[in-house]
Amino acid sequence: MSIRSDSGAESCGVCGGTLEYLIAATALRCTACGREDRGHVVCPQGHYLCESCHGAGFLERLPALLDEARSASPLVIAEELMTQPDLPMLGCEHAHVAAGALMRALENAGVPGITAAHRAEALERTARQAVSAYCGLSGVCGVVPALGACYSVLVGGQCGKGPETRAAMTLASRLAAATAAEADPGCCKAYVRSGLQEATAFLEEQLGITMEPCAPATCVDSDRHPHGCRGTECTWHPDHEESGVNSTGPAAKARYDEFFELAYSEGVLDRKTKILVALGASLAAGCVP
Ligand SMILES: [Zn+2]
Ligand SMILES: [Zn+2]
Repeated sequence: MSIRSDSGAESCGVCGGTLEYLIAATALRCTACGREDRGHVVCPQGHYLCESCHGAGFLERLPALLDEARSASPLVIAEELMTQPDLPMLGCEHAHVAAGALMRALENAGVPGITAAHRAEALERTARQAVSAYCGLSGVCGVVPALGACYSVLVGGQCGKGPETRAAMTLASRLAAATAAEADPGCCKAYVRSGLQEATAFLEEQLGITMEPCAPATCVDSDRHPHGCRGTECTWHPDHEESGVNSTGPAAKARYDEFFELAYSEGVLDRKTKILVALGASLAAGCVP
């Protein structure tokens, strides 16, 4: 059984078909390794790849790819990694890209004391908390713990250590906001780019480490996005234009639309409950009904 490694990897990793996202975990067997598992992403043809087998080829090659990377800019290294043909379009392999790129760039920049062992540790921590499709399932994109792990490795964060743990958690909360801003619909490539921007800004603020900047990348994968690329709204789309308009009107309208989309979408709470909750919140905030 071969796992697809061509540009069809954005969908089912076995047959290239359109994947189905389940709202509850289901007992499944991995088509590649045969392991019994519980998961949320299946192919209508019955294919399922466990987290270890999804993107396995790319992740096996990642340490060597990072050894070869010469740039001192994490964004440059991440862009190089994202051109690899066996990196799936979506999936938490991107969390490993983000962490690996940041740690390797710090090594290449000659930041004292940072070694390949620190990079390996950050990647091992990433593997514990970055799970594909959990951006939507739990609200945490894998890039958040990946870059949080890098920072924690740098400052020696551990359970029981106050300031170091607090600093890593503060970065994670900022990364959560940065990735949420790219989530409609989500795109792992955008999460890597915005996450690295946030993390490098934090490194400069907190530790005085200035990473080598990089010219803004232009995404070449918009046609591959199985849920539809945001198109020109995405900062990295080839036709994206920065709007110079400093008006809060469009932003407020966007928030309003987003609220109604959520209110009318499906979930455990029915629409009526959501609207009553929202009405209660507005009244409590002093709005006139
Ligand atoms: Zn399939
Ligand atoms: Zn497997």
